[in-house]
Amino acid sequence: MTKFVYTFGDGKAEGNASMRELLGGKGANLAEMSSIGVPVPPGFTITTEACTFYYKNNKAYSDELKQQVMEGLKGVEAVMGKKFGDPNNPLLFSVRSGARVSMPGMMDTILNLGLNDQTVEGLAKASNNPKFAYDSYRRFLQMYSDTAMGVDIHKFEAVLDRVREENGYKHDSEMTVEQLKEVIAEYKKIGIAEGKVVPQDVNEQLWGAIGAVFGSWMSERAIFYRKLNNIPADWGTAVNVQCMVFGNSGDDSATGVCFSRDAATGENYFYGEYLKNAQGEDVVAGIRTPQQISKIGNERRGLNLPCMEEEFPSVYAELDAIRHKLEGHYKDMQDMEFTVQNGKLWMLQTRNGKRTGLAALKVAVDMVREGLITKEEAVTRVEPGHLDQLLHPMFDKSAKRDVIATGLPASPGAAVGQIVFSAADAEAQSAEGKKVVLVRVETSPEDIAGMHVSQGVLTARGGMTSHAAVVARGMGIPCVSGVADLRIDYAAQTLTAGGKTLKAGDMISIDGTTGQVMAGELPLVKPEMAGDFGEFMKWVDEIRTLKVRANAETPTDAQTAKDFGAEGIGLCRTEHMFFDPSRINHMREMILAKDEAGRRNALAKLLPFQREDFVSLFKIMDGLPVTIRLLDPPLHEFLPNKKAEQEALAQQMGVTVEEIVARTASLHEANPMLGLRGCRLAVVYPEICEMQTRAIIEAALIVADQGVKAIPEIEVPLISSRKELEICKKIIDETAEAVFAEKGKKVEYTVGTMIELPRAALLAGEIAELADFFEFGTNDLTQTTLGMSRDDAGSFLPQYVTKGIYERDPFQSLDATGVGKLIAMACKDGKATNPNIYLSICGEHGGDANSIMYLNQYLNGVSCSPYRVPLARLAAAQAAVKAKKA
Ligand code: PEP
Ligand code: MG
Repeated sequence: MTKFVYTFGDGKAEGNASMRELLGGKGANLAEMSSIGVPVPPGFTITTEACTFYYKNNKAYSDELKQQVMEGLKGVEAVMGKKFGDPNNPLLFSVRSGARVSMPGMMDTILNLGLNDQTVEGLAKASNNPKFAYDSYRRFLQMYSDTAMGVDIHKFEAVLDRVREENGYKHDSEMTVEQLKEVIAEYKKIGIAEGKVVPQDVNEQLWGAIGAVFGSWMSERAIFYRKLNNIPADWGTAVNVQCMVFGNSGDDSATGVCFSRDAATGENYFYGEYLKNAQGEDVVAGIRTPQQISKIGNERRGLNLPCMEEEFPSVYAELDAIRHKLEGHYKDMQDMEFTVQNGKLWMLQTRNGKRTGLAALKVAVDMVREGLITKEEAVTRVEPGHLDQLLHPMFDKSAKRDVIATGLPASPGAAVGQIVFSAADAEAQSAEGKKVVLVRVETSPEDIAGMHVSQGVLTARGGMTSHAAVVARGMGIPCVSGVADLRIDYAAQTLTAGGKTLKAGDMISIDGTTGQVMAGELPLVKPEMAGDFGEFMKWVDEIRTLKVRANAETPTDAQTAKDFGAEGIGLCRTEHMFFDPSRINHMREMILAKDEAGRRNALAKLLPFQREDFVSLFKIMDGLPVTIRLLDPPLHEFLPNKKAEQEALAQQMGVTVEEIVARTASLHEANPMLGLRGCRLAVVYPEICEMQTRAIIEAALIVADQGVKAIPEIEVPLISSRKELEICKKIIDETAEAVFAEKGKKVEYTVGTMIELPRAALLAGEIAELADFFEFGTNDLTQTTLGMSRDDAGSFLPQYVTKGIYERDPFQSLDATGVGKLIAMACKDGKATNPNIYLSICGEHGGDANSIMYLNQYLNGVSCSPYRVPLARLAAAQAAVKAKKA
């Protein structure tokens, strides 16, 4: 028999925290909390395997599952001393999703399950609170109709709005029992009109709710979220069926969300929000503005509503003790949900809290200092992608701020962009290359694609735990929420605040760290690299084994790379040095020359420029290696293709325009990725390789005289055979020897090659015998292996992914299923014939965390663009920690 149901509650549990794959994150943690003595309402978890079974069997439940759910129900009934469907004193359930990893707001929940026309009366009597009973019933009808039956939620909201307006109420909670009954009657009419009537049979309700949760795993928004976060579809979701506790059963009841530390800044104090006399959905929906749980939370946020610490002092003390217990138990910052029912505290959920990059860093560093975790653990607590946030510019402190409103600092960082009022507009305009800030009254899961492409998000309603806040923090984009003074008019496409009206398309600046909203475009400044960040990166560097260098050829990029911690230049693309107006014509003269003498003449003019370039790079990288790649692109790329430019060049060179056009045509490569380029240029025109080698060696000797240690590494591009490297290496070595003889001094240098063609990867063993290093050009190697470029693929790739031909974008990361495997193989073959060879990758994947995780075991280093250096360092440290564990 397969066990599909795991029970918890009453200080016991069948599962535990390690069973997250089977029980989902929420289920595993409910079990864990229950067994360590944290008060958890009893219930049971239906496994993710049951979900997988459901989808494999045409959305049918197994008989085993049915039987086990019924037994689970009986267990909860026994603990609570109440019965499901009892017309006098009914036991009610919540039914919630719970995947292996949290997918906030993506899947469905149904509360108050077990209410019908009879049990609602029983609940009214038993609780001695008819208003609470009827309010719970109308909530149940609404949620069930929406999630299990697919009725448009707005139809229900319209009923509530009407009743509120007719009676001049501000909040739903002002409604009387009679009015609630009227609302319920209206809800039922909607169900009848749509042919979607909520079942009165409580067991039917339960199975409908379980099906709805399973169904929500395949909802469009959940699928999108999974794609965004690389979550496999076959994981499935678990379902948690748990005894209801009521935060809306009077003024001695409440519900809230809290974090063991501040999830926005990482500061170590108890942070949270709650609502009195409310259910969880009210907090998350962001419709009522919640109160803070702690005095310090009020202080930090500059708020002054009464807090839980003042209103419920003993419950607060118990909650604070649980906060410490759970954080100590899980050794990570916890995100907890709780409910207080008539003065009794219940914990509904705990999980490792999502946090901003800023908070992730602070929490990790603080926890090491507190002795809670090791440095190795700390480096795994910050997502490499999150570093982007820390390295992102902030607003210039000295700039004058035209603050038009202030809200909650929901997700830190600075965002500047043009105002858009819908997620669809955000997507459309960002596709046109515009930077946008999404402004909404509140956001909902439908908005995530639009949020993803926005610079930041601004909402009029919602607290720190509203949808907008949680999702923005997860995405690492700035967010200001709950700006009470903000008036948004979707129809007019305007927002009004602080006496100013801004239109769609106007610039706006939001500061997710302070909550300020400013009209116009505020200037941005570079981030601070010292402090906690510096300390953390020191640990990262102690732990990682992979070297991290940068791709750079200008002094500015080289300096930036060094500031970000690059241990040298991994790829200097020399062709980029020939496009400067002062040089391009010498280059063109060389290309257009009719014979070797003419080429040598032109190359002699380029030599001083190249030498000077290398002198400045060597000086910046004093003592660190600089890999210089010899000329790579096909020559036609250097010739003008506009008529006017061709004429000017003809005049300058003393040739006819026709000659220029003819030469350009003769050089044109049908496939500019292949053909006469890379090392083939050096084989056919050795004088180009000679000039570049001379410039490199002379530059190294010049700086040596100034006390600078140059470590030149000369890289032969795009080889496809050992013979090519042999020829190029001979030219390089002979040229270097000639320079040494002329100057009467020497400098160490190495010679290696770029592996960008599958053939070179296949011949890695024999090529390595001649090479001091291999650098895999992963951009070209991906294209040449797959037989398409990213641009070619652009038009059909999404279809290929949906049709399952590719599981994911094959350009995305290197792993064992594709180009990564080819690299791994070439590394092994190369090391076998030359154990001292230095192996690295450059190209986009050098700065991709997943590729680094996979290739860490094969490589000595990576090289990436300067801004990605910190990310690569962190990913390398995480790979090292993982390798040590394995
Ligand atoms: C590569 O192909 O990965 C590479 C680094 O070379 P380039 O981008 O210059 O073609
Ligand atoms: Mg390349």
